[in-house]
Formats: sequence, C-alpha cells, structure tokens
Amino acid sequence: MKGFRIIIVGGSLGGLFAATLLHRAGFDATVYERSVHGLEGRGAGLVAQREVFRMLHVAGFARLAHIRATAQARVFFDRAGQIVRRQQTPQMQLSWDMLFRSFRNLLPDERYIGGRKIVAVTQDATGATVHFADGGEEHADLVIGADGIGSIVRSAVAGENSHPAYVGYATWRGLVPELTIPDEAAAQLFDRFAFYDTQGSHMLGYLSPQAISPAKCPG
Ligand SMILES: Cc1cc2nc3c(=O)[nH]c(=O)nc-3n(C[C@H](O)[C@H](O)[C@H](O)COP(=O)(O)OP(=O)(O)OC[C@H]3O[C@@H](n4cnc5c(N)ncnc54)[C@H](O)[C@@H]3O)c2cc1C
Repeated sequence: MKGFRIIIVGGSLGGLFAATLLHRAGFDATVYERSVHGLEGRGAGLVAQREVFRMLHVAGFARLAHIRATAQARVFFDRAGQIVRRQQTPQMQLSWDMLFRSFRNLLPDERYIGGRKIVAVTQDATGATVHFADGGEEHADLVIGADGIGSIVRSAVAGENSHPAYVGYATWRGLVPELTIPDEAAAQLFDRFAFYDTQGSHMLGYLSPQAISPAKCPG
C-alpha cells in the first residue's frame, strides 16, 4: 500500500519476517536495528515451530527447511552418563544464521538500517514517532515492535512497568564443532536431543546445522 509508512523496531528474525511480508505487500516499511555489527553468528540451532516453516514457504524458501539436523529422539542422562529415559520425539533444528541471512538478503539495504537504537516511541492521532539515541526522530503511520525481551515499543503501549522481571535463573549456551566431540560422546549424542536434569538446573544438547548461503543450498 503506497504512502503508508511503517517502522519496525528490531531487526532479528521477528522484524525481518514482518518486513519481508510488508515489503512484498507493497508497504513502505523500514527496519531499525540497534546492533552496529550485524546479527550474523548470534544464533545456533533453532527448533523451528510451524510458523517458521510457514514463513519459509511464503517467502519462497521452502528448500531451506531441508538444511537441518534432525533429532530422532530425546534421551535423559543420569550423573554417571547412563541413559535413564527415552522419548520418541523427533524434531528438527534449523540454522538461525541461515534464516537470518536468507531473510536479510530479501530486503534492500535502505530498508534495513543498522546501528540505530530507538529510545522511545510516542503516538498521536496521526501515527507514531520513534526517537533515536542519536537525537533523531522519525514519524510513521504504524510502528511495529520486534525489539525482543526488553521492548521499548511494549513499554510505550503497556507502560513503564511492563518490563520483564528477573526470576532467578540464567542460561548459558555454547557451540562446539562436531569434529571435536569424542567418538563415545558422538555415538550417544548425535541424532538425539540429550538432557541432563538435576536440582535447580537443566542441561540440553543438540546438533545444529552450520549456516550456509541460500545460493549453495540444494534446489
Ligand atoms: C540459545 C537460544 C535458543 C533458541 N532456540 C529457539 C528455538 O529452539 N525455537 C525458537 O522458535 N526460538 C528459539 N530462540 C529464540 C529465537 O532466537 C527468537 O525467537 C528469534 O530470534 C526471534 O526473536 P525476535 O526477533 O522476536 O527477537 P530477538 O531475537 O530478541 O531480537 C530483537 C532485536 O531487536 C533489537 N532491539 C532491541 N531493542 C532495540 C531498540 N531499542 N532499538 C533498535 N533495536 C532494538 C535487538 O538488537 C535484536 O536484534 C532461541 C534463542 C536463543 C538465544
């Protein structure tokens, strides 16, 4: 729809999915992302839900769903490293980076502006205005919040107290190259979602496909 200006705050997968659909529908939509250096390399394996597959289909990227690692089952270990429980729950992991790059490449550069942090969003009868950390501002008919867990847009709509509260636990994640995994561990872990549960903590390991460019993806 020509002339209807939309600003999307946040340029991760949520922002890119929204921008891709709006851009295709003919809207004047621009993403503002605070990260200066880009988001590549940020993610690992994403256990994609059906909305992601739907998005791949709509964007013409259905083939990317085939670049994946599949876990055939879930296994639960005890402290001695023995499998104490199994569940036949097949699921597949896609590469976060592959998704990010593929959708980022669909948008012209002038529609994805990095290094611009939004510090406030205000609205009036004519639309909404985003206020940048560098002092600039921009008005749009619509502002979409895709700015994650500490969303500025959410607080503009739902109030200052809408920020999430720390609930007392933290998450670490790490990526290990497949070839460095000892054979014994590889035989236990590969093709599986592997859990170790103990009091107050929970560990999870799974295979993650390496990101490759869509151009190299099998047709
Ligand atoms: C280890 C890990 C595993 C995950 N596994 C899964 C999984 O298995 N399945 C799944 O569906 N999801 C998974 N996720 C979550 C998944 O990565 C997100 O759902 C996905 O990235 C989409 O999130 P989003 O775009 O809504 O928000 P985010 O990815 O949080 O992105 C928000 C973006 O907004 C930008 N931003 C924030 N504030 C501002 C501001 N004020 N101005 C400008 N830009 C701003 C941030 O820099 C960021 O790029 C996982 C995440 C992690 C970390």
